[in-house]
Amino acid sequence: MTELAVDPVLVLLGVSPTGELATNAAELLGAAARIGTPVAVIIAGPGHGQDAATAAGARGAHRVLLAETPYVDSALTAQLVDGLVTAYERVNPSAVLIANSIEGRDVAGRFAVRTQNALAVDAIGVDRDAEGIIVHHSVYGGAYDVDSAVTFGIPVVTIREGGVEDRAAAANPTIDSLEYVQTGRTAATIVSFTPEQARSSRPALRGATRVVAGGRGVGSAEDFALVEQLADVLGAAVGASRVAVDSGYVPHSYQVGQTGVSVAPQLYIALGISGAIQHRAGMQTAKTIVAINKDPEALIFEIADFGVVGDLFTVVPQLVSALTAKKE
Ligand SMILES: Cc1cc2nc3c(=O)[nH]c(=O)nc-3n(C[C@H](O)[C@H](O)[C@H](O)COP(=O)(O)OP(=O)(O)OC[C@H]3O[C@@H](n4cnc5c(N)ncnc54)[C@H](O)[C@@H]3O)c2cc1C
Repeated sequence: MTELAVDPVLVLLGVSPTGELATNAAELLGAAARIGTPVAVIIAGPGHGQDAATAAGARGAHRVLLAETPYVDSALTAQLVDGLVTAYERVNPSAVLIANSIEGRDVAGRFAVRTQNALAVDAIGVDRDAEGIIVHHSVYGGAYDVDSAVTFGIPVVTIREGGVEDRAAAANPTIDSLEYVQTGRTAATIVSFTPEQARSSRPALRGATRVVAGGRGVGSAEDFALVEQLADVLGAAVGASRVAVDSGYVPHSYQVGQTGVSVAPQLYIALGISGAIQHRAGMQTAKTIVAINKDPEALIFEIADFGVVGDLFTVVPQLVSALTAKKE
């Protein structure tokens, strides 16, 4: 019989239709290890579960509850909620952690309602104190840090991608089969699936550890090449302000902020970005913020760890040369 984990924390891990474990698995398991023993729930398409379970062990899962079903690739969310509810009833966890992705938020809301537990969304960390589990959030565009705790049930927490630094030690997980009842609740049907082709060798913006972003100050789509040069020399993802996107310098998928992507990288470099509240909402939890702006009064300097008051067209080429020389 499987030994029961002490203080289990249930973690729902995503698996792509082609079988890859979601990139946020390490931080979800890292957060779980901080407050208990990570027990992963993996619901994968046929033939994809074992590899994903092994990968989850390498990222710190002590136990994996694994289901393989063709339906997971043909219906949105419903299978994940059904499986997670069964795992919850089986494990009796002290918390459930789910990615704060579009699908993760959908699963978390439905799961919390179905199991009558409290939902804490968009967390940047979890901890324990004498009274139980504390969830950390960064709200109002990063202007306030807030801690939340549940007053009934257990916390169902969605974790912001890139928000958690904790990583769990690799484990050799027990892998148990998860048999769950399909409730047949209404679900949107997935008609077809096309893997997104990586258009560049740069890291994706979501979850990137380094981001170089450009704003209106960059001035044109052509000059955005300068932002990309700095990103490439640092191995960073490229981001942008909304004005840069609206002006057509880069596609909308680059937008960082309230109505774009939220990032929490180790390093965020803002070039020609003023630091409006809506932009800060998506990057203020970056560990180190560097700003280059010719206006010494720019709001971005209020949150920057390092600031350069200057023309980006003078500063950035020098920075690129210095970094390139250092690499050689
Ligand atoms: C509902 C709502 C949602 C929004 N969502 C978002 C969002 O998700 N993301 C977002 O970014 N914005 C968002 N905005 C827009 C936001 O309010 C700002 O308008 C936007 O962030 C400003 O972009 P910017 O910093 O590039 O431009 P600006 O505010 O115009 O700043 C440009 C900066 O570049 C500097 N500069 C100019 N030339 C140079 C140079 N040669 N060298 C160095 N510095 C230079 C200037 O000094 C200035 O500080 C939203 C707004 C609303 C109302």
